[in-house]
Amino acid sequence: MRSALCLLFLAWALPAQTHPTLTFDTQAGPLKLTAIRHASFMLEAGGQVVHVDPTGAGYEALPKADLLLITDTHGDHLDPKALGAARKPAAPVVAPEAAAPRIESPKVLHNGESTTIGPWRIEAIPMYNLKRGPKEGAVYHEKGRGNGYILTYGGFRLYIAGDTEGIPEMRALKNIDAALVCMNLPYTMTPEEAADAVKAFHPKVAIPYHYRGSDLNAFSAGLAGSGVTVKLLDWYH
Ligand SMILES: [Zn+2]
Repeated sequence: MRSALCLLFLAWALPAQTHPTLTFDTQAGPLKLTAIRHASFMLEAGGQVVHVDPTGAGYEALPKADLLLITDTHGDHLDPKALGAARKPAAPVVAPEAAAPRIESPKVLHNGESTTIGPWRIEAIPMYNLKRGPKEGAVYHEKGRGNGYILTYGGFRLYIAGDTEGIPEMRALKNIDAALVCMNLPYTMTPEEAADAVKAFHPKVAIPYHYRGSDLNAFSAGLAGSGVTVKLLDWYH
């Protein structure tokens, strides 16, 4: 009985789930990033909530989104059930055209297009494989299907790579304050390739995400001495 009571107390005293966070300073006040899992994260700023690629369980317990961004059609990025649980009624969902049929009232952005929603400026950036695919002559992510994004809040430019290799469009980015950079094989790139691409556009801060099974030490080592600050969060807690 006593141990059962003890367990009950523990269950009450511990938060249901704690997710790692980072907070950035912007001209409009703090911007907080919360790593949910793999490619799924939440941003909070100025009383607004943004969910990016919400997937999996637990969204009922998180703040609901005023804005959502979807990068691609694959299940680790587009999960209609999680999206429904994360969305405030009528909150805009920005998505590539390929993902639109599985989203209620989407706001479609194609690569190269941009829009402003409330305090958020959203630019759709290409994301695609240069060479990796399920078989010869095919790629996992075709050019034009998915969107990476630059999300600007209070002058702070956050780059969300999506699933991509180190494409020229990424390497040519300018004035990025923080970059969420994917890696993992066979779908995107190695940590060494990711570090090489990051060096080319030189964000102030690089945050590996979507890195399941990758060696983050290799990513950090690749950027040693570059002046890019690497921030590691546990996305698989
Ligand atoms: Zn993915």
